[in-house]
Amino acid sequence: DFVSNVSHELKTPLSSIKAYIEMLVDGEATDEKMRNEFYEIISGETDRLHRLIENILNISRIESGVVKVVREPVSLTAIVKQVLDVGVPQARGKNIEMIEQLAPLYHQVEADRDMIYQAVLNLLSNAIKYTPEGGKVTLSVTMDERRGVTVCEVSDTGMGIPVDDLPHIFDKFYRVRANKRMAKGTGLGLTLVKHIIETVHDGKLSVTSEAGKGSTFSFELPLLT
Ligand code: ADP
Repeated sequence: DFVSNVSHELKTPLSSIKAYIEMLVDGEATDEKMRNEFYEIISGETDRLHRLIENILNISRIESGVVKVVREPVSLTAIVKQVLDVGVPQARGKNIEMIEQLAPLYHQVEADRDMIYQAVLNLLSNAIKYTPEGGKVTLSVTMDERRGVTVCEVSDTGMGIPVDDLPHIFDKFYRVRANKRMAKGTGLGLTLVKHIIETVHDGKLSVTSEAGKGSTFSFELPLLT
């Protein structure tokens, strides 16, 4: 199933690259402006191919266990702060207000730093991608000492996800039709997040969302005592 999905996904940009190169070779782009347009499309489709391959490799490496999981005591707040260094300029570029509510650094979980970084980064980039200009994105880390977990929440005031799409958003290559025009993507980001949180770390990932209002993705990991 995966191989056939992957082949299908790779074929679309590849066919488009081939078609535009053929048109260039046949001299169908009659002026400089049109030629530049074709180059732009080819370049965009090449980027898409690159993103797809990177994501597919990431997922298959983790799923097949090729990537060694390095578990160590880490502070989720520290990881989230690193993600914010990347996300804040991105949000500023879209005039999105970033709100941080971070628990003190000393609370620790046992986790693979790089993988959790990747998971939080994917959630934050989605929140920014699928929130229109002027919206708000909130990132929080809280402790639930009673349940012995630490909870990370990424919340936005963006497009939201229609109720019919919600059960599918963690599937490989699934993209919500209504949100496609909003941003580029591969439909693999959330698959990776789910795998990192639930399979690798025995955590729990959940989502609540309402179309037109926004979404909240949250995951929890056991606190180190
Ligand atoms: P993509 O690369 O398309 O962003 P993901 O696997 O990260 O893929 O997400 C799957 C789909 O779920 C996205 O295409 C988008 O439609 C929807 N989605 C994910 N996060 C959000 C969000 N914060 N707000 C609205 N829609 C979202």
